[in-house]
Amino acid sequence: MIKTVGYAAQTPTSPLAPFHFERRDLRTNDIAMEILYCGVCHSDLHWSRNDWGWTIFPAVPGHEIVGRVTQVGSDVTRYKVGDHVAVGCMVDSCKHCDQCDKGEEQLCREGNTGTYGGFDRFTNDYTLGGYAKHLVVREDFALRMPEGLDLAQAAPLLCAGITTYSPLRTWNVGPGSRVGVIGLGGLGHMAVKLAAAMGAKVTVLSRTADKADDARALGADGLLVSSDEQAMAGAANSFDLIIDTVPVKHDLNPYMPLLDVDGTLVIVGQIGPVAEPSTVPLVLGRRRIAGSPIGGIRETQEMLDFCAEKNVLPDVEMIRMDEINHAFERMEKSDVRYRFVIDMASLDMASA
Ligand SMILES: [Zn+2]
Ligand SMILES: [Zn+2]
Repeated sequence: MIKTVGYAAQTPTSPLAPFHFERRDLRTNDIAMEILYCGVCHSDLHWSRNDWGWTIFPAVPGHEIVGRVTQVGSDVTRYKVGDHVAVGCMVDSCKHCDQCDKGEEQLCREGNTGTYGGFDRFTNDYTLGGYAKHLVVREDFALRMPEGLDLAQAAPLLCAGITTYSPLRTWNVGPGSRVGVIGLGGLGHMAVKLAAAMGAKVTVLSRTADKADDARALGADGLLVSSDEQAMAGAANSFDLIIDTVPVKHDLNPYMPLLDVDGTLVIVGQIGPVAEPSTVPLVLGRRRIAGSPIGGIRETQEMLDFCAEKNVLPDVEMIRMDEINHAFERMEKSDVRYRFVIDMASLDMASA
């Protein structure tokens, strides 16, 4: 076993604190990595506090992981010691169902294995995430970090990046596409940057005009104030795709008339039930409401390569590992532009 240290929540109400544990010995198709950076996702906070009701403690969050390979199993072919690699929200899947065959492991018929909060497919051990010094992962679920992509800044691409890149690709966004983005947090700011890099005309939808300058700085063409009924009416039928990143329950109905014929509103946050959507704009405009999770491994690699080529990087604020509890509090108040990243060099093995 590989001794490591991370930060864990011991109960739903206790702050994250140092936690010593072990990673499994390498299987023949595993790599071990030293974690250099880990992004801080909203899911990390929900899971640490058992907001979804199925956390098993101690809980080590973190699924925006960037590191360096330190060991490889005997059958590993893609990676060698010293390579820079990344791991996102999943660490395994069945690899034989139709979805896995298509490279859509996130939609595995048997369920993918979460980077944290999942169960190892061989040992049934509970998986522990990337707020730690080391990780062992099946090589098929590691991504290659392209040359030239800033390792620290890139970490949030592994969840926030792929979660917004995947629907942009699914709905064929390209030059001339008209894309709306609701919510300008970790996911929303990536949706703006990625859609703009694909050549789309991007509009941020926000309740107030406060974020207009921020939206433009991220690459949006403008901001539509969703509380301004006249402006909303004037924008009817003007979007091909709207990416809804709002992390709390909200009403979708005001947004539906904004879609053009065959337009899609895609929800990328798990927010449970929403207010009753009206069928009128859906049926009359042949509009759709859809959902989208992360992407598959192949698409995640494509996203990383795209970001390296186009120099698309999240806006991040670096923190030390021992600042995580304060970071969670700030994240709850949306007081971050736009993603925290933990510098894992700030966590040493001797942490008590
Ligand atoms: Zn996430
Ligand atoms: Zn599968």
